[in-house]
Amino acid sequence: MNKKLYVISGSSGVGKGTVLKGFMAKNPDFMLSISCTTRKPREGEIDGVNYFFLTREDFQDCIDNDKFLEWAEFAGNFYGTKKKYIKQCLEEGKNIILEIDTKGALQVKKQMPEAVLIFICPPSYEALENRLRGRHTEDEETIQKRLNEAKTEIERGKQFDYQVVNDNLEIAIENLEKIINGERNNA
Ligand code: 5GP
Repeated sequence: MNKKLYVISGSSGVGKGTVLKGFMAKNPDFMLSISCTTRKPREGEIDGVNYFFLTREDFQDCIDNDKFLEWAEFAGNFYGTKKKYIKQCLEEGKNIILEIDTKGALQVKKQMPEAVLIFICPPSYEALENRLRGRHTEDEETIQKRLNEAKTEIERGKQFDYQVVNDNLEIAIENLEKIINGERNNA
């Protein structure tokens, strides 16, 4: 069967991770791509599971050697998806989901027009701010940076193939499933 690459973006605090987790729990034949980042691991994050944690030098080396399908700077750190990793997953017939920022998603679409871009939106900007602050994982400076990024991301999200509003978690998961099942049946 023809495997497609699904790319999911949403601004920080939109609950994208929770929607995706709910989707993955119901669809165990899907796997999340593991990205590279220069960000420090958060508590409980494991190298090679949540991310491949790289030094700036190693990340730069991958950029210079054209190893990334896409990469982006986000809130002061670099994030990227390795070409070889994605190629291998698709060749192995895996249903793979990339959870990346909007800039990276649009880069993927340019290189792989068959990729399906799905944007998870907050019900409102205020709802997004509340969620981000309620998480208590970042300091004020980081929150401000992320809120600024969020505005830009919501604008870019308008260019995506699909938008899913995360107001009610169960409905958001259902809508995501409908989109992906529809695309799978069209493959
Ligand atoms: P976090 O630091 O919260 O794990 O992720 C911050 C942002 O980086 C999120 O919007 C996430 O989707 C994005 N991100 C994670 N991995 C990648 C990647 O490989 N490429 C790009 N462009 N963005 C990524």
